[in-house]
Amino acid sequence: MARPDELVFAPLGGVGEIGMNLSVYGLGNRQQRAWLAVDLGVSFGDEEHLPGIDLIMPDISFLEKERKNLMGLVLTHAHEDHFGAIIDLWPKLKCPIYATQFSAALFEAKCAAERNAPDIPVTVVPSGGRVDVGPFNVEFIPVAHSIPEAHALAIHTEAGTVLHTGDWKIDPTPTLGSPTDEKRLRELGEEGLLALIGDSTNAVRDGRSPSEAEVARTIIDLVKSAKGRVAVTTFASNVARIKAVADAARAADREVVVVGRAMERVVQVARETGYLDGVQNFRSPEVYGHLPQDKVLALCTGSQGEPRAALARIANDDHPEITLNRGDSVIFSSRTIPGNEKAVGSIMNNLVLQGVEIITDRDHLVHVSGHPRRDELRDLIAWTKPQLLIPVHGEALHLHEHAKLARAAGVPPRAGLPQRRPRQARPRRSRNRR
Ligand SMILES: [Zn+2]
Ligand SMILES: [Zn+2]
Repeated sequence: MARPDELVFAPLGGVGEIGMNLSVYGLGNRQQRAWLAVDLGVSFGDEEHLPGIDLIMPDISFLEKERKNLMGLVLTHAHEDHFGAIIDLWPKLKCPIYATQFSAALFEAKCAAERNAPDIPVTVVPSGGRVDVGPFNVEFIPVAHSIPEAHALAIHTEAGTVLHTGDWKIDPTPTLGSPTDEKRLRELGEEGLLALIGDSTNAVRDGRSPSEAEVARTIIDLVKSAKGRVAVTTFASNVARIKAVADAARAADREVVVVGRAMERVVQVARETGYLDGVQNFRSPEVYGHLPQDKVLALCTGSQGEPRAALARIANDDHPEITLNRGDSVIFSSRTIPGNEKAVGSIMNNLVLQGVEIITDRDHLVHVSGHPRRDELRDLIAWTKPQLLIPVHGEALHLHEHAKLARAAGVPPRAGLPQRRPRQARPRRSRNRR
C-alpha cells in the first residue's frame, strides 16, 4: 500500500539570522516531492563583519536541483528581506510567482528601476484570496505589519494545513490597510492546524507592540509645535508612516516635499494602488527653497545612514536642493538596524553641529516595530491552536525564546537551531533600500 503523502518544511534562510528569508514546503514522499517556496529575500552585510559586501543572498542550490518539482514562489510581503533576492536568483528557478497587488506593483517598480532586470511575471492574488500552486492551496490572510498588504499564508494540503505567519503584529488601529484577520485565524484553529511557522523577531519583548495610530498622533504633535523647517526620515516602504507624516504636515499647514528615489517610488506605487487616496499631493525638491521655513516638511530617505541617500547628503550640506539650519528639526521615525549605528550616529552628529534639533524613538514614540511581542505571540497560539510550532525569522536567541513561550502555552516547539550554512555573497554598491 502506498504511504500517504507527508508535508515537510525546510528553511533555506531566515532561521538563525534576521534577513534572507526563504522557506520551502514539500509534499509527497522521499522519492518524489512537490515544492513550494515562500519568500526570497536578501540580508544586508555590515562593514564590521563583511566589509565590501552589501547584499547577501540565500543559497538556492537545492531548489535549482529540484527545479522541475518547484511549483511556485509565494510572497508574504514586499520587504527586501522577503523579496530582495528575486531579481538576481529567479533566472535560476523560473517558477511562477504569486503576490498580492501592492507587493506585485512594488516589485514591478523595482525591476523598472534596475538596469538589465529580467522580465519576471508575477500573478496577482487578491488579499484574503486563495491560489492553487501544484498540490498546495495557498490562502493569503491579511496581517498588520510595517508595509501595506502583509499576509500570513495558510498552506492547505492533503496532509493538512500549516500557517506560515510571515512578518506580522496585532495592531487594532493600523491607520492603513487591514488589521490582522483574527476571525479567519480563529477559524483555522477550529478547522485544525498542523503547525504554526512563526515570526520570532520580538519574542524577547514583553507585552504588545504599540499601534501605528499612536505614532501618527506623536508625529502630528511634534510637527505642529516645530518652529523652523522639519525633515522626517523613515523606511520608504512604510506607507502608513508616510501617510502619518502627510497628515501631520497638513495639520501644521506645511507642504510635503519628497526627497530620495526610493521614497518617490513607493509614493507612486502607493498612489497607484489606492493607499494614499485622500492624501494631499506632494511637492518635488525644487520648490523646497522657495517655501517659507514654517510651511515645509521634507520627507527623506536615509534613516539607516546610507551615504548616498537624501539625509546623509543633507547632513553633509551636500544636497542640491535641501538645506537645514539652526532651529530646524529632524525626526528619525525609524529604528537603527544593528550594524548601521555608526553611520546613523555620524549623520546625527553632523546635524547637531549645524544646530538642528534631533528627535528619535529614544525620546518620543515616533516609531513602532512591525513584529509581535510576547502577548501577541500568545494570542496567535490561542487563536490557531497548532499541534506544533516552528520558530523562524530570528537569531538563535529569538528562536529560543519563541520556542520556550510556545512550550509554556502547551504547544511543542520544533526549534532545531540551525547549522551554519554556506552563503552566496557578492560585492555590490550600497544602495538605498527598504
Ligand atoms: Zn522580515
Ligand atoms: Zn517585513
